[in-house]
Amino acid sequence: MGVFRAVAFGQILTANLILARTLGYPSTADLIAASIDFSEQLCSDSELRLELRRLLEVRGVVRGFEVPVEQKDGRTRWLSVDARVVRERDGNILRYEGTTVDITERRRAEEALRTNLERFQALVANSAEEIIVLDADQKLVYLSPSVARASGYSREESTKLDALAAVHPDDRAIVESCLREALEKPEQPLPFQVRLLRADGSWRWVEGVLTNLLEQPRIEGIVINYHDITERKQAEEEHQLLAAELLQAQKMEAVGRLAGGVAHNFNNLLTAIGGYAELALARLPADSDARADVEEIKRATERAAVVARGLLAFSRRRVSCRESLDLNEIVLEIGALLDQVIGENVELKTTLAPGLRPVEGDRSQLEQVIVNLAMNARDAMPEGGTLTIETASLNLSEPLADFDDSPERGRYVALSLRDTGIGMDEETRAKIFQPFFTTKDADHGTGLGLSTVYAIVEEAGGCILVESQPNEGTTFVIYLPESDSPA
Ligand code: ADP
Ligand code: MG
Repeated sequence: MGVFRAVAFGQILTANLILARTLGYPSTADLIAASIDFSEQLCSDSELRLELRRLLEVRGVVRGFEVPVEQKDGRTRWLSVDARVVRERDGNILRYEGTTVDITERRRAEEALRTNLERFQALVANSAEEIIVLDADQKLVYLSPSVARASGYSREESTKLDALAAVHPDDRAIVESCLREALEKPEQPLPFQVRLLRADGSWRWVEGVLTNLLEQPRIEGIVINYHDITERKQAEEEHQLLAAELLQAQKMEAVGRLAGGVAHNFNNLLTAIGGYAELALARLPADSDARADVEEIKRATERAAVVARGLLAFSRRRVSCRESLDLNEIVLEIGALLDQVIGENVELKTTLAPGLRPVEGDRSQLEQVIVNLAMNARDAMPEGGTLTIETASLNLSEPLADFDDSPERGRYVALSLRDTGIGMDEETRAKIFQPFFTTKDADHGTGLGLSTVYAIVEEAGGCILVESQPNEGTTFVIYLPESDSPA
């Protein structure tokens, strides 16, 4: 401890060696010899000096007054000064006396700490990493500025947030189990990926770790740090979707090739069977008993050819012939077949628009479309119901607002099949045209009906839309472009 006594704002009268050395003098005598104003020697900062003098005059005593000292060689040290005024009887200041403690090391440590703290604060504030600290009751105790920046909340708003409430409802369980695990495993960083609410109501993906540092005395919190990975997630999702689509396309192609190959060979065989049946018929005497049987063979061959053509249509290696067709006529002609398809429980109603313009397409394929849709309608109405088939001419002046895949503007002939069956939910509806998609058991569903319908309608230059609600029936509408050729 340094000790001094000085004339009122003048020379130092006495001092000890410690003070002399602290101020940079080899001996007390050197210090006293160089002394003009003790306060200037004790404090190199003029403002602090004034303050020191003022305090001494007003209060008579100061304690722990921290001042910088410039040593003789120009280096700065810090002193903590305790000093008091000694007055004469009339109140005039006689001298000052006091002690000093060298606090340079402490000041340096404090300074370093402050710099460190400021550096870390700046790092946290400017980091893209978002940091949240919760207390043992999961209340927010700290939130880095990046949280507000990334979530779009103001700093004010974000500090009021309930940390868990911002987590997507489906992901809350993840956070909760992470918190539970953290309580059991202090200091172990636990990774997580969840969706968080932005101020504008949209969701973003974040990824990070949660660490229980409740037992670390300096932190006493659960530290959660994370960063935004929304873009990465979107890219991943897109990638997955594309991969799934590619797989689907490859599957389709393989099935198509297989079905096409089979159908092609099958078709050749049918041609042979039909041809020989024809020849046999020609040779059989008119009154032969076998005639009726051979006629049956011929008819069965023709029916089988329809199936083979359907397969070819699906495989796209089709032998489709385009002709000008009257949809009304087709509906009427297969009416009897449809009655058989839908069974007794289902009532068939047809409403055919008069004077319908022709469309271009393959007759047997369009028949197949109607039959496939009717079969699905029957399956959707196990307890019975009504199937309504309608045709209409329409002139679309603009695409249908309710459908993303609406036909372009133009003149169309529309064919709709409406059932009063079980309908479908959104999720099912999104997949019905995918090959192999079926909600039926293996005996009843192949999942190829609607994909074939889709392929045929597309081939004919048309499009198919579906409207359905669970328990409210289903309506399929096929739009085929009107043909230019005369009816
Ligand atoms: P499948 O009939 O072999 O299941 P489809 O491709 O014909 O295959 O139909 C796919 C799925 O679409 C069906 O399993 C069913 O879930 C749904 N679906 C098709 N038509 C209807 C309909 N009229 N009513 C309700 N669901 C239908
Ligand atoms: Mg089907």
